[in-house]
Amino acid sequence: MTSPRILVVGGAGYIGSHMVKLLLAHGCQVMTLDNFSTGYRDAIVGGEFVRADLADRTALDALFASRAFDAVMHFASFIQVGESVNAPAKYYANNVTNTLNLLDAMVAHGVKRFIFSSSAAVYGNPILVPIAEDHPKAPINPYGRTKWMVEQILEDYDRAYGLKSISLRYFNAAGADPAGELGERHEPETHLIPLVLRAASGRAPDIKVFGRDYNTPDGTCIRDYVHVADLCEAHRLALTRLMQDGGSAVYNLGNGNGFSVAEVIAAAERVTDCVIRITHEPRRAGDPPRLVADASLARKGLSWQPRFDCLETIIAHAWAWESKSTTIPLAEGAV
Ligand code: UDP
Repeated sequence: MTSPRILVVGGAGYIGSHMVKLLLAHGCQVMTLDNFSTGYRDAIVGGEFVRADLADRTALDALFASRAFDAVMHFASFIQVGESVNAPAKYYANNVTNTLNLLDAMVAHGVKRFIFSSSAAVYGNPILVPIAEDHPKAPINPYGRTKWMVEQILEDYDRAYGLKSISLRYFNAAGADPAGELGERHEPETHLIPLVLRAASGRAPDIKVFGRDYNTPDGTCIRDYVHVADLCEAHRLALTRLMQDGGSAVYNLGNGNGFSVAEVIAAAERVTDCVIRITHEPRRAGDPPRLVADASLARKGLSWQPRFDCLETIIAHAWAWESKSTTIPLAEGAV
């Protein structure tokens, strides 16, 4: 592949920023587009960047007119399940309408390759675990519905406009850049591993465990944690596939190993050598008891081989990042 030109939408965010770094390391020409609503300027480690909003079709047209991109990777969506229940309009506007704007600008300018950050949330409460891609799609919250809607739109856009896409359904993205340069910086943070580590470092008094009466061995929810570097590698492989004129596809990304909330906290205590204070809380709305991926399709179709599939390694990288996080400024506009 000779130096592909890639637009990374949301390249100032958690997964997008790791992606920019990986693409640059592989010799790609990278441009980040971000509105910095939740991203950080200093998380963009290289390449070009443009500050723009996906709602601004004029800005998108100007960008696509100025550059011939080989592919677009789209990381810029809102991700909080609870917020999506209370503010669905915000989620449909950004995750669906703005994505349509982006896709329509691509179609208008002849850009034909798209890699989409989808989610295990498209499955809702699974009836069969581990979950394969052909499992029924029945999202149980607006966030999951936005992801499923975009996947269906992509099928139609391939049929009608020849836009080839790969949708990657992440299970629980976690960890940080193994070199320690980048990490997870959500404000407010809602994800388990960074919050457990804030409790370990003393930045938070405790970790609140949402429910211990689930039908799982220890009563807490089970998730499949997948390292952000492995997610990004899957995107790179998906890009290679699209550049070789592979067709549209959908893949789960997870390790196939489920860990309960209690097991994650115990692993974090081992990694950090700290005692982590637990407060038990009622169940959080919209949490399925068990989400574990069958990612054999990605291993086969993309030759994806996760490198950091050990939970302790994922937590250790996140801990190295947490340990330097107190000095990092909040996002512009963060609350
Ligand atoms: N969780 C928890 N306390 C927290 C945050 C999360 O007990 O402060 C639980 C949550 O209920 C779920 C699991 O940890 O069972 C993973 O949640 P997270 O928000 O990290 O990811 P999700 O699975 O919702 O995408």
